[in-house]
Amino acid sequence: MIKGKIVRVSGPLVVAEGMLGCKMYDVVNVSEKRLMGEIIELKEDLASIQVYEDTEGIGPGEPVYGTGAPLSVELGPGLIESIFDGTQRPLNIIREMSGDYITRGISIPGLDRKKKWRFKPTRKKGDKVISGDILGTVRETTLVTIKIMVPPDISGTIVEIKEGDFTVDERIVVIKDGNEKKEIELLQVWPVRIPRPFKKKLSPMETLVTGQRVLDTFFPVGKGGTACVPGPFGSGKTIIQHQLAKWADAEIIVYIGCGERGNEMTDVLLEFPELKDPKSGEPLMKRTVLIANTSNMPVAAREASVYTGITIAEYFRDMGISVALMADSTSRWAEAMREISGRLEEMPGEEGYPAYLGARIASFYERAGRVICLGSDEREGMLSVIGAVSPPGGDLSDPVVQSTLRVVKVFWSLEDKLAAMRHFPAISWLNSYSLYSDSLENYFRENVETDFVENVRTAMTLLQNEAELQEIVRLVGVDALSENDQLILEVSRAIREDFLHQNAFHDVDTYTSLKKQYLLLKIILYFYERTNEALGEGTPISAIKTMRVKNRIARAKYIPEQEIAKIEEIIKDIDEELTSISRKEIKTEA
Ligand code: ADP
Ligand code: MG
Repeated sequence: MIKGKIVRVSGPLVVAEGMLGCKMYDVVNVSEKRLMGEIIELKEDLASIQVYEDTEGIGPGEPVYGTGAPLSVELGPGLIESIFDGTQRPLNIIREMSGDYITRGISIPGLDRKKKWRFKPTRKKGDKVISGDILGTVRETTLVTIKIMVPPDISGTIVEIKEGDFTVDERIVVIKDGNEKKEIELLQVWPVRIPRPFKKKLSPMETLVTGQRVLDTFFPVGKGGTACVPGPFGSGKTIIQHQLAKWADAEIIVYIGCGERGNEMTDVLLEFPELKDPKSGEPLMKRTVLIANTSNMPVAAREASVYTGITIAEYFRDMGISVALMADSTSRWAEAMREISGRLEEMPGEEGYPAYLGARIASFYERAGRVICLGSDEREGMLSVIGAVSPPGGDLSDPVVQSTLRVVKVFWSLEDKLAAMRHFPAISWLNSYSLYSDSLENYFRENVETDFVENVRTAMTLLQNEAELQEIVRLVGVDALSENDQLILEVSRAIREDFLHQNAFHDVDTYTSLKKQYLLLKIILYFYERTNEALGEGTPISAIKTMRVKNRIARAKYIPEQEIAKIEEIIKDIDEELTSISRKEIKTEA
């Protein structure tokens, strides 16, 4: 074993000499306290180590022990429902052992060594298997049954396969590969900085339904896609991430909380276990893995947490399911990179961030995707990644925002102005975009309605017209507008208030199915179409503005999913009221 000696300590960074033979990204134990660290720079026998624990009281001369292994996570049953820190230490267990403050040097495996899991084999002795093949299943929670797979780089013939209750580190399968025998456990280990392998990457073709109208209808993200939510403090980033964790159409959620503030992170720790999975009524944690960094945790652990999180997410993806990862906020991760880079005295780039900031962000989001998994049975896994970004003052020219926008395909732009008006989600309909819109057109046509996409285009055009008209109104007042333009203002207000605005805290409004999203937009556009005709036939705009049916349109979003046929009835109401208005007009003329 390699044993070096500390020469310098600078916050989370320790420099040690005598480290010849170590490799980049090897894990080391620092001092007799055995603080966990990772080598991030090597110059001959000098190693710079980022330490995942508080280095107070550690000084030159103390030993550093190499472990010869890279920073890795344990993958297997027991991940779900866990709350881990950035290096996969189970926080719930540590808290039981040592209270709120983590004792330094504590080393607890990511997965429980005592708990037994029932393994049900789906293969038998004599079967030939390759990397990624499914050997059997474990029902991990009431919501999730996981697949136990042949780890990457192993293939051969099964010479032994057991059935029954096992701990994660007991042998369940033996595979003979040539003359070599390989033992397989429920657990496999994977280095966090290396993406897990797959056969082939494909482009997303299905939408990740989130039940959030502005997202699904206007700026959809594909299953296996990437999105970012930048916005100033208080604009709704965390609420959006929580809504996605609750509602996104994914079997597994990996939520990385990179604490904005200490108390906000505590909120995640306290609130998340309280959340219910809306579909089953079970606790949401039964399909969630939570990775948490409170602000009192060392900065380097934050840097590791995004890799720990995405590696766990890839493992579930490899089972051939839909996984969604949220990171709130990636800005705190970038700041950790900046701090470490500063201590390494690297040449700073923009705003003091390291020159490799963009490359790191890109390689993180590139681990998202829709893939054909390893293994002889054809299965597709999807990992969608949604990152919040919190630039200082909400400034979009911030290097973290800009680097993120270069790689992600969806931009949900949160705006102060909308949040101040209590228009939530405060997502700008004019500045946001989704590069999946075109490739998902067929999905919407085939799975919702044939005119879904056309309706969205019409609505978007109306909103753009509204923005132009509002300029004119600001200058010369609303009376200067033609009746047609006044109608556009009327209808776009309905699109904004009755469709885009969605209350995360309202029982019904919190989630809207795609079918209901379609209907809600359709009645607004139908109203536009019919009132536009009526204007042409001489009905005055004043009569249209006071139509009673407008109130029914506004309340349609509160109609529960089981009763959405009632939304279609509003079409009839629009027709009837317009007929009665025009009769009245004729009467008064006569
Ligand atoms: P951020 O994470 O950007 O700082 P939060 O997500 O904590 O902001 O949101 C701030 C506040 O805005 C919330 O506490 C809530 O009152 C309000 N809010 C945000 N989104 C919604 C929403 N969809 N529905 C209702 N209220 C919302
Ligand atoms: Mg927040």
